[in-house]
This record gives sequence, structure tokens and C-alpha cells, in this order.
Amino acid sequence: MHLEGTLEPATVVSLARNHGHALDEDTVRSRYATRDFSAFIEAYKWVTSYLRAPSDYAQAARRMCEQMLAQNVVYAEVTLSVGVMLLRKQDVEANFCAIREAVEPYEPRGLRLRWIFDAVRQFGPDAAREVAQCAVGLRGAGVVAFGMGGDELSRPAAEFREVYNYAAAGGLHRLVHAGEIGGPDSVLDAANILGAGRIGHGIAAAADPKVMALLAERSIGLEICPTSNLRTGALAGYAGRADAGLPDHPLPKLFRAGIPISLSTDDPAMFDTTLIGEFSTLDEMGLHKPEIMSIAEGAFRGAFLPQGDKSALLQAFRAKAQALRL
Ligand SMILES: [Zn+2]
Repeated sequence: MHLEGTLEPATVVSLARNHGHALDEDTVRSRYATRDFSAFIEAYKWVTSYLRAPSDYAQAARRMCEQMLAQNVVYAEVTLSVGVMLLRKQDVEANFCAIREAVEPYEPRGLRLRWIFDAVRQFGPDAAREVAQCAVGLRGAGVVAFGMGGDELSRPAAEFREVYNYAAAGGLHRLVHAGEIGGPDSVLDAANILGAGRIGHGIAAAADPKVMALLAERSIGLEICPTSNLRTGALAGYAGRADAGLPDHPLPKLFRAGIPISLSTDDPAMFDTTLIGEFSTLDEMGLHKPEIMSIAEGAFRGAFLPQGDKSALLQAFRAKAQALRL
């Protein structure tokens, strides 16, 4: 999930007001109502333009934590568009400090957070390297991974090989958005060229049994966001039909091929969804209850945390599930 994608209309209105702009919530809602990928990227660019000062990021982070607590989230790895911060000549460290201070009071309330610094693919490898440098520099402060999002068709993975090697040498996990609007080759490149430990979306892998087998064999997890795929047109692209719906989503196929799956919301405010809402889509896809439980547990297993921490979270989840007779 992206912090920038959690900005509810009321928060955007308030952020705009911080900078002397009058906006109303309906305007934000209509900007968010996208049905294809380029419109989505435009909406994302527009909304992040209101995140200008460290205090804006702090405000956004506090709202995000409230949303997470309302969803019973206990742990999350949140993506920050550091590539966008750098493009806008912002002080990444100051933004990150403000975010960390804002979320600190939520830890005693049971919400633990780690961070993924994300580069924008179409900005190229030099800009990506700057993001990776920031991420390595702030590793001790809770950054666990370097990632890359944006337009996966804009530049080949090979251009970023060095940057990913640098991130890995700096002790970070590696993430790539791939196989969202791109094909199975894009997923293959993320795994083979960039050494991704997890892949954002990766739904295109379902079109190639060899790619699915490779992900399963190497335990490379996919972060799947069904409503996002519907709303960005990624699912229609995958299915080859403009009217593709959730029953066409390849999540069950990927899961049953033995690929680790975790479920997420991507940009919940923009797609008007919640994590609980995403879990209810699994029913619509025809998954059975033990499978749904296994996907919930998969999020803990695939976390970028030390093994002991993951086991503790998983045990606590199982105890709670048992108490609720799930
Ligand atoms: Zn994403």
C-alpha cells in the first residue's frame, strides 16, 4: 500500500487548504474515479502535488494509521514515493522524520510499521539510484526495502540492475511493480534481473506456467490488490476483455500454483476500498475459507521482518482467529 494512495477526499481538501487552495471533496472524488492506467497515474500525480511540507506527510500518515487500526491491521509495510519527493526537490529525510514521529504513538496501540522507498520507473536509473541511496541511508530508521513503481513498460529492467544490486548490498529487500500492465516477461525480469523478493501485482504471471513455477519454486511472493487491478484496467488487460470482473481475476490460479500471495489495497482512498473489502473479493473469486486463511497468514510469512518477529505475529494472528472460530 502506498501512503499517497490513502489520502481520503477530506484529507486532500485539508492539505490543499494548508497551501491556500480551495477544493471540495466531490472534485477529489471525480479525480479519483479512473478506469484506466494512464488516468490513474494522472490522478496519483495530481493528489501527491498537495503533499508539499513534512507536516503534510505527517497529517497523511496519521490518517493512514487511523484507517489501519479501523481495519484491525497490526503490521504493515508502507510504500513512500520517494522518487516523487526527489522530483519535487523535497527533503526526503525531513519528510520521513515527520512521518515517523506521526506514527510513533500508534505503536503502543498495536500498529507496527516498516517502510519501502519507491522509485518511479519512467524517471530512469539515475533517479532510481538516488532513491536507493536515501533508502540505504535510512535503513536503521525502519526502511526495509527498495521498490520501483510507475509505468513498467517505460524502461527495461536491465537498466536498473546496478541500482538493485546496490540496494541489496545495502541490506535492503527488493521489490518491483511488475506484471500489472506488463506481461509475464516483465515478472520474469523482476525476478531474474532485479532479484525481487516480492513483486507488486504480478498478475501476468498467470499467463505463463513456467513463470508461475519459477515464482513458486523461489518463494517469490505477489502482492495482489484485486480492486486496484479492476480500477486501473490491469485486469481487463490481463483478461483481454474490457468488461472483465473479479471472477476473472487470476489470484486463485496463482495461489493454487503454490505462489505466496499477500492481499493489499494499493491505493485504498483512490479505489474506494479497504483491506476488509479486499478480503471479501476472495469469496467472489470462489476461494474457500481455508484458502482465505492461508492468504491472510501469507502476509505475515512474506513480511520483510526477522523470522522471530514474523513467527510471533503469525502466532498472535492464529490465536485470534481461533478465538473467533475462523
Ligand atoms: Zn502499487
